[in-house]
Amino acid sequence: MIKLSKRVVNMNPSPTMAITAKAKEMRRKGIDVVGFGAGEPDFDTPPHIKEAAIRAMEEGFTRYTPAAGIPELREAVAEKLKRENGIDYSPSHVVITDGAKFALFSLMLSVIEEGDEVVIPAPYWVTYPEQVKFAGGTPVFVETSEENGFVLTVDLLEKVVTDKTKLLILCSPSNPTGAVIPAKELEKIGKFCAERGILIASDECYEKLLYDGEKHVSIASISPEIRQVTITINALSKAYSMTGWRVGYAAGPEEIISSMIKINSQSISNVNAIAQKAGVAALTGPQAFLGDWLKAFDERRRYMVEKLNSIPGVTCTIPKGAFYAFPNVKTVIEKGGFKDDFEFADFLLENAKIAAVPGSAFGYPGYMRFSYATSMENIKKGLDRFEVAVKAIM
Ligand code: PLP
Repeated sequence: MIKLSKRVVNMNPSPTMAITAKAKEMRRKGIDVVGFGAGEPDFDTPPHIKEAAIRAMEEGFTRYTPAAGIPELREAVAEKLKRENGIDYSPSHVVITDGAKFALFSLMLSVIEEGDEVVIPAPYWVTYPEQVKFAGGTPVFVETSEENGFVLTVDLLEKVVTDKTKLLILCSPSNPTGAVIPAKELEKIGKFCAERGILIASDECYEKLLYDGEKHVSIASISPEIRQVTITINALSKAYSMTGWRVGYAAGPEEIISSMIKINSQSISNVNAIAQKAGVAALTGPQAFLGDWLKAFDERRRYMVEKLNSIPGVTCTIPKGAFYAFPNVKTVIEKGGFKDDFEFADFLLENAKIAAVPGSAFGYPGYMRFSYATSMENIKKGLDRFEVAVKAIM
């Protein structure tokens, strides 16, 4: 038997990818499953972005690029951060990565030493603790509450920080709750970390997907002191429907960025050359399509939350960003006699033919994540099935 490394044995596979794969497999067998697991927009990549990729190929832009990313794209990112986020970085503070996921991974490998603690607000995106463990760190969870809209506060943070705390991971707007940390709280959190030399990984993947007039604030823009401890992580995946292209980036202190470039150079070499050219088109081209996407997401969001709240035993706070609803289903799980939310999710998949991700996957049992990055028709059909299944239990 082949003995695998402890590092990889201790790593859990992504449960969101697992449930999506299971639903796909059922569909392949001809079963009509409604998928609520999607972590990606259901819209196509805008044509001008695809055209830039085609042009790159036709012009022979098909070779290795600098490990840090092509200069035009690093410049476009620096420009974007200045223009939209109020963070003034030169391109040397930017590294292009294989999606935001690899930016986070490379950041963890760059700054975490064995035994370092990394604070992760729960509910959290499934990947954070696995990456922290892989890098030798210890994830320390800080639970936010449904009553407080799943928002991390400095008071909560204070309770879990120790002299071993190296890094705090922020995700606003949040996957899975859609919570947005208000600017005032961000400032307090930033100050708290800067005073203690705690680094902040600010995952801003969903920054453009906001509703009800919410405005995104990048924590690094708040003050030079906060900027010095912050690494801003983002990607073109969600805002430009480019999940498969694998273009992300990190911007932050030069020594950390240099380390991440070194990791690129000895692991992936560089992000796909063609995708990087497409990335330039995404960041510098027309942005108007986003208005239509937001309108569709918003309609689905409202419908989904209203419908979920109308189902007995289910309550759902209104998400302010991203494209997920995170309803509380504790009463249904209890009444149905399910062992936990994993069992309930399995029941829903097998019986109601709907795929949603159990809250436990996000470190928050008793909840489910429903993605509304799917058509209104699917949402209506899937939630009707959910309603029938839940009513039968209640
Ligand atoms: N961060 C969060 C919070 C996400 O939800 C995701 C994708 O689901 C990522 C990062 C990864 O994005 P990418 O596809 O750019 O690697």
